[in-house]
Amino acid sequence: TLVDLFHSFAPLGDKTALINRTGVRRFTVSYRELSDLSLRMANLLAQRGVAPGDRVLLWGPNSSWWGVAYWGIIMLGAIAVPVDFMSDRARAESILGLTKATLVLQSRFKPERLDVPDALFLEDLQYLLQEVAPYADAVHPDPDDIAQLIYTSGTTGNPKGVILTHRNLVANMVQINEGVPIITPDFSFLSLLPLSHMFEQMGGFFTPLYRGATVIYPRTLKPSAIMEALGEEDVYVIMSVPRLMQLLKSSIERELAEKKLDGVFSWLAGKAQPLSKGARKRLFFPVHKKFGSNFTVFVSGGAPLDPDVFRFWDAMGFTVLEGYGLSECSPVLCVNTIDRQVAGSVGPPLPGVELRLDGKEVVVKGDNVFPGYYQNEDATRAAFTADGWFKTGDLGEITPDGWLTIKGREKELIVTGGGVNVYPDELEGVLNKVPGVKESCVIGLDRGSGEEVHAVLLLDDSGKRPEEILAEANAKLDSLHQITGYTIWNEPEFPKTTTLKIRKFQVKEHVKKGA
Ligand code: ATP
Repeated sequence: TLVDLFHSFAPLGDKTALINRTGVRRFTVSYRELSDLSLRMANLLAQRGVAPGDRVLLWGPNSSWWGVAYWGIIMLGAIAVPVDFMSDRARAESILGLTKATLVLQSRFKPERLDVPDALFLEDLQYLLQEVAPYADAVHPDPDDIAQLIYTSGTTGNPKGVILTHRNLVANMVQINEGVPIITPDFSFLSLLPLSHMFEQMGGFFTPLYRGATVIYPRTLKPSAIMEALGEEDVYVIMSVPRLMQLLKSSIERELAEKKLDGVFSWLAGKAQPLSKGARKRLFFPVHKKFGSNFTVFVSGGAPLDPDVFRFWDAMGFTVLEGYGLSECSPVLCVNTIDRQVAGSVGPPLPGVELRLDGKEVVVKGDNVFPGYYQNEDATRAAFTADGWFKTGDLGEITPDGWLTIKGREKELIVTGGGVNVYPDELEGVLNKVPGVKESCVIGLDRGSGEEVHAVLLLDDSGKRPEEILAEANAKLDSLHQITGYTIWNEPEFPKTTTLKIRKFQVKEHVKKGA
């Protein structure tokens, strides 16, 4: 259980667990302090009337105090309900209603607050915790007790509460550690993505704590703050999403050009790597040194990583590990291996994960797979096959050696009048590279005799005509996968989830209304 993991913290003593760069001064929490503060936190919650089994909403930004609050909830035997810090009050309120949480931990940094009698501010914890003693009652949860409820980010519909048990979470830590056996206590992780999302929580919080490593929280998420943290701290790993890797790529490309390294770079990027990683790093040293001497691994997940973005970072000498998962699976199912990375593939299933294709749909089993949605039996029933496999809703292909490629989501698959299956992700990959396009979102619009392949385009300020853009994209696509309609998106951005995925169903609703 998570409680067993927690008991491994105190013996690590002065080893640094968490580093906050978010406040006025840099602030570190050792493993012993994390243990002590969390037990005080459990007591504070108990004094405020929280009992074992109660739900506690945790609605704050990434920081050491988020971690202390989380472990306090667990060590009281209560259930954590992390809510994305960027969520608006309406969403936090609806989760509060659905979970009937006893207490809310929120942030002073957020002007929108939940107006409830039982609330604490995360920023006050450093003072409040000095005044309470560590909680002395030992908790012994069952591995199948609920540890937390995660409300899905909602790219395809209404958020549902994913139940994750102690067994689920600990299983995924063990599976990741066996599948990617590189993490040592010397590692430090830069934590960027929201901790309310399973991907960051597992990859950038539980996994390092499980190995006694260190987690660093940067000042902000701007590329400049990320680069500052990389330069000043000894970062080894960044958990990333494709969009972030794309943004960082653009800023590094500009520097390569300034330092006149772009020519040699394109020569290298076009080849099967003739040089070792070390040699590539030395070659691009003027740019590389900004990343600090230890930074080597990008982990990418949550959405498909464009093979070109993969090749860029790979050619720069970094190890890019693309993985695949869902909140329902705690979340990781597959990851490329440390010995071999393939552009466009999410790798083999982790040890302990059983994975097969049902038709084209990826279905899975394992101790990391959730037992069901919170108080939602219909959704739970619909999520599993009759023989108990979880239906991911993703379509995939598996190579003979067991490596998985994700083609797209079943719900987003477009079936044209001619009965051809079109995967939006593939077309977006092509469109996003056409000059003039800032970002695109491909959807299917029902036209009676089948769906139209419709591109929603967010254009840059080049003034390029959309007809020209479609013609350029279609020239790269075969005749059965042509884009036949478009809409210009007039807002500055597409609606996005916290992991920077486009909320497709919202875009589609919007386009349908306009049509
Ligand atoms: P909701 O379930 O409400 O629609 P969500 O799907 O965004 O929200 P998450 O658990 O955040 O919920 O995301 C999981 C989904 O992300 C997967 O089902 C898959 O479609 C997609 N995904 C994750 N990793 C990858 C990857 N490496 N390549 C392609 N798709 C991925």
